[in-house]
Amino acid sequence: MDFFESFGDGVVRFGKEIGGQAKEAAGTAKLKLELRSKKEDLAKAYAALGKRYYEEHKEEGGETIQRVKELLKEVEDLRSEIAEKKGAEVCGNCGAYVLRGQKYCGSCGEKMDLVFYDGEVVDLNQ
Ligand SMILES: [Zn+2]
Repeated sequence: MDFFESFGDGVVRFGKEIGGQAKEAAGTAKLKLELRSKKEDLAKAYAALGKRYYEEHKEEGGETIQRVKELLKEVEDLRSEIAEKKGAEVCGNCGAYVLRGQKYCGSCGEKMDLVFYDGEVVDLNQ
């Protein structure tokens, strides 16, 4: 076997190895995508479980429940602040932003006459 022949064999072997690795990478990429999707589903299932637990135990207090209450309040405050800047209200039913003056939520159809302002219910039509 002369140099060029053995060199050629090496190139073919090298090519096959790279091809194999690419195939393997494609195979693991698909599995990694599936793994990520399953992890997201798992996180959603845990969150749903946590939300249900919170609803059932929120009166009992405790450090984590208190933290959830604080975060819910902060989320609500931020949403209200954003709504204020957008000249909108937050729909009390679905949480969508509804332009001020609109009678119904464009997202869920909830009537928008009553809004919460500084913790008080205010009738916009008055
Ligand atoms: Zn709505």
